[in-house]
Amino acid sequence: MQGPILLNDGHKIPRIGFGTYKATDEEGVASVKTALQSGYRLIDTAAKYENEKAVGEGIKASEVPREELFITTKLWRENLGYAQAKKAFAESLKRLNLKYIDLYLIHWPANAKNHTNWQKTNAETWRALEDLQSEGTIKSIGVSNFWPEHLEPLLETARVKTAVNQIEFHPGYWQQAVTEYCKAQDIVVESWSPLGQGRVFGHPVLEKVAKKHNKSVAQICLRWIYQHDVVVIPKSTTPERIKENKNILDFELSVDEMRTINEIPKMGFSGELPNEWPDKV
Ligand code: NDP
Repeated sequence: MQGPILLNDGHKIPRIGFGTYKATDEEGVASVKTALQSGYRLIDTAAKYENEKAVGEGIKASEVPREELFITTKLWRENLGYAQAKKAFAESLKRLNLKYIDLYLIHWPANAKNHTNWQKTNAETWRALEDLQSEGTIKSIGVSNFWPEHLEPLLETARVKTAVNQIEFHPGYWQQAVTEYCKAQDIVVESWSPLGQGRVFGHPVLEKVAKKHNKSVAQICLRWIYQHDVVVIPKSTTPERIKENKNILDFELSVDEMRTINEIPKMGFSGELPNEWPDKV
């Protein structure tokens, strides 16, 4: 199970990565540098986080060779559509100060609530990603926050299959149906907010399992996701936590522990639904 996951396009994605949502410029540079120097190789950012420039600087400051890295960024919902997507991608690349991106994701799908012809909008956006991939500036292309109802029409017109779907996934909200659909389609699932942005801490089941393994609740959440064969990208701007979150390979959750965590009732949900959110584009 250790080692990267093979994507359906032949590229490989590390199983443990580093998130940067809400990292300010200063935190972004320092935390990305610390993460890379601590051994992380996957960095997750997005145009919407407004920290791509800082992430790029952190990458440079780390002095880790580019070919060892797996850099993800995302297309924000205001830039859906063929021409807008291409323009937004070029701007992201420039801010990151990179020559190519390893994984580019459509951050949120166009949905029926916010778009009259949402299927066409998603298809046109996807076509831009496919063209950028064939030009060589993106290695792998994927989506985020897509449910099967968004993926199915997309896959009907796609020339290139979606490699990754990044979704909210943590104890108390792990979107089992979406995950199973993606796995059946050979689409790798990546977990966002693996710690529910801290909302899952304090749950008695997680605390009990943590105590048993002499690990933190954060490490239990991350290990549980890892054992689901789902990529984790915890965010932290605290150097000790950055290191702690990576240290999940020296223990294993039992089948019973996996099941008990699976069965934790709904908690920690962000409230962001692909068909409801956002109210307005
Ligand atoms: P996480 O679930 O990773 O939680 C981050 C929070 O937990 C921060 O407040 C951090 O604090 C704290 N934390 C981290 N590690 C520990 C620890 N070991 N012990 C205690 N507290 C800890 O939330 P995110 O929402 O940031 O999700 C991770 C990444 O997923 C994002 O950064 C982003 O890259 C991506 N994402 C993608 C979305 C999408 O729509 N595609 C949506 C949301 C996130 P501190 O920094 O102070 O240490």
